[in-house]
Amino acid sequence: MDDGRLYLGIDYGGNAVKLGLVDAYGQLSGRASRPTVDLTDKVECRAFAADVAEFVHGMGIYSSELGGVGFAIPGIIKEGTYTTPNVKADWPLVFDCVARTFGKPGVAIVNDANAAALGELWMGAGAHARSALLVTIGSGLGAGLVVDGHVVAGGNGAAGEVGHITVVPGGRPCKCGRAGCIERYASARGIVQSFKEAGESGKLDETLFTDCAPANDTDALAVFQAAHKGDPRAKQAFADMSDKLGYVLAQVACVIDPDIILLGGGLTAAADLYLDDLRAAYRSYALAACAETEIRCATLLGDAGVIGAARYAMQEAPRDSAQRDWLDPDFGL
Ligand SMILES: [Zn+2]
Repeated sequence: MDDGRLYLGIDYGGNAVKLGLVDAYGQLSGRASRPTVDLTDKVECRAFAADVAEFVHGMGIYSSELGGVGFAIPGIIKEGTYTTPNVKADWPLVFDCVARTFGKPGVAIVNDANAAALGELWMGAGAHARSALLVTIGSGLGAGLVVDGHVVAGGNGAAGEVGHITVVPGGRPCKCGRAGCIERYASARGIVQSFKEAGESGKLDETLFTDCAPANDTDALAVFQAAHKGDPRAKQAFADMSDKLGYVLAQVACVIDPDIILLGGGLTAAADLYLDDLRAAYRSYALAACAETEIRCATLLGDAGVIGAARYAMQEAPRDSAQRDWLDPDFGL
């Protein structure tokens, strides 16, 4: 679909808000990043909308040239309610302010992990595939699911919550209120905990321990460095992660059988430490029909959410029949 217009993608993360203009071919023609701020009242929301407008205007683009706005948020979306525990925002007010600013009747709202999966499937490592599961391994473990080119949100907005699949019944407590979720093992936090537990197990050769000491609960970088030096605690932590994540992905594949499984997030920087083992674990646990499904790293990195949000707007944003001009004079910005 090429109507000659650009689509604005907004990826509202816990630390940064990324903005980008994307054309019908998926090319980013401008991008910007802002620190995340609270958006809890009219003043904050209007200021945010004005800032976004300034970005678009600064690119020489007028609202009549915008085909739509896609907004990715870090949380669960269900029938007009938005649950984003890590971000303080009055989302209906935010979306209304942005929509009014651009003279659009609405913006398309999508979960950020799903947006990233959609972006990767369209323009990144999943291009030319029809369906993809994107697993983002960072401080936690998020996932986005796209089937037949469209985001799968689920009846409760919780489809693709791979991070909370139980892999060790009664295992490590999880912030979701349950225990033994894969996120507690396959994430920066999980790796650091596994490293510490391996050191206390008494089963490893302590003479091979390095001086590695993670600075905090999510300091996976220290464990990466220890693994490269041959520290058996770090090796075991990554081996455990590979085995458990491979097991979980094999179960997920039984349900959705994606064309491709993509890995994103900070821990892909250390993919050389675990990707081969992860693929082997996946194959060993998978149903024969999907045992050869490709697993590889995502390629759009920080742009995936913006591109995916814009793509979502192309697919889902309400069509506006009467374009208003630049800023709405009645809105009092
Ligand atoms: Zn959980």
